Amino acid sequence: NLPSSPIRICIVGSGPAGFYLTQNLLKLRQTLPLTIDIIEKAPVPFGLVRYGVAPDHPEVKNVIHTFTKIAEHEHVRFIGNMHIGNKIRLKDLQEFYHIIVLAYGSSVERKLNIPGETTLENVFSAKDFVGWYNGVPENADLQPKLDHTDRAVIIGMGNVAVDCARILLSPIDELAKTDITENALETLRHSRIRHVTLVGRRGPMQVSFTIKEFRELTKLNGVQSMLDKEDFSRIDQNMIEKLERPRKRLTELILKTARTNQSKDNSERFWYLKFWRRPKQINGITSVESVDFEQTEFDVNSNFADENLPVRNTGIIETIPCGLVIKSIGYHGVQIDPWLPFDHERGIILNRQNRIDERPGFYCTGWIGRGARGVIVETTTESHTVARRIMDDIEQGRINSLHDVKSGGNGLISLANSHQIRCISYDDWRKLDTHETSAGLVKGKPREKILNIDKMLELTSS
Ligand code: FAD
Repeated sequence: NLPSSPIRICIVGSGPAGFYLTQNLLKLRQTLPLTIDIIEKAPVPFGLVRYGVAPDHPEVKNVIHTFTKIAEHEHVRFIGNMHIGNKIRLKDLQEFYHIIVLAYGSSVERKLNIPGETTLENVFSAKDFVGWYNGVPENADLQPKLDHTDRAVIIGMGNVAVDCARILLSPIDELAKTDITENALETLRHSRIRHVTLVGRRGPMQVSFTIKEFRELTKLNGVQSMLDKEDFSRIDQNMIEKLERPRKRLTELILKTARTNQSKDNSERFWYLKFWRRPKQINGITSVESVDFEQTEFDVNSNFADENLPVRNTGIIETIPCGLVIKSIGYHGVQIDPWLPFDHERGIILNRQNRIDERPGFYCTGWIGRGARGVIVETTTESHTVARRIMDDIEQGRINSLHDVKSGGNGLISLANSHQIRCISYDDWRKLDTHETSAGLVKGKPREKILNIDKMLELTSS
């Protein structure tokens, strides 16, 4: 007993989670009359693919081609520049749509809550630093100082930490061929940073970067990996054999790198991993001068290879001098509407298998549903399951309002217009896209991003 009028679905967030879910819903739709609107707070689509993925990872950004095909589908509409939770609330969406999927990612940095973190200059969250080199409008004026110091400390050992290290250490001519912003390129051109140290609370078997990212760091031209063999002395072959394949391969590569460390000649820049250290305090008068770390230790009876190895403080403090600090300890999601059930501790929407039980017809997917972890492939995999669950709920009559006629995007856009919100369509975005790619072309780059929202809006209307 399925309705003959269109089933209206809206997806809040145009990152990988939003686009891949759309793709899978379209695949499963068969003869169902279904429309999907992808709503995005920025005037531009693609979430972290545009604003997170590093400029020197163009192969990762190729997913944009797939997303474009999805956006061009006759049953799909992109509505940009619409911030849900501001003037338009979640309850408003219920009026226009039968099903609402929240795929709005995790946009807030975790904090260390230590002295100096917010008061000293040249201390940044990775989120802001990444936003700066990737052209996020609100980070355009970050202005990190890189010409007064030769040492940077990055707190954290995940892929984002490695991205930041790579950007700081990469030869400038290689970065100049990417879509890194012109102002970041200019600052990096005058950078004196030669030593980048990544510091983690735990040991070499708890690092959360992946093998691809680690390998890239070891292969940078003119850059030497400075791993301390001693740090890996507890890892034996027996331990390695028991690891799951990705961790096994990564650990083997780290060990190999540590053993062959000093082999590159003519290196001008260096990177280091320092384990078993918890940040206590960032020191300096106006700008950062050093970071105090307290050494940590683990119980000798614990399993050294345990992903969640607990550590305790030793009271031993070590000070690492540096003129730049990047905190890369993760992201968490925000509750965009007080009406939304939210797990503030984990920074995710409260859900059971992507269904938001307390709000029938509402679902969530991507980082906002499962936490800010994992690469795009994991979101792709999840989107198959989420699409199947939504289709099951439709087919088995679990969506109460399904027989109500809803106006979908037309209704939403009228409401937005009444709030003086200018909605951006996919065709509008194309104008900006063409402008950015042409501006990049003359500089030998794939794109020169526009950093100012007003300018973006102007270019999308011309
Ligand atoms: P997002 O990509 O964050 O998309 C969420 C979207 O929702 C955004 O466009 C946001 O603007 C929008 N939104 C937020 N709030 C609202 C609102 N209130 N109203 C409307 N819209 C809203 N993965 C890889 O595979 N390879 C990489 O090289 C890689 N590099 C990364 C680098 C960084 C710095 C980061 C942080 C992540 C990286 N990842 C990488 C991981 C990858 O980006 C994520 O797995 C993926 O983007 C998560 O998808 P998502 O759709 O859940 O979130």
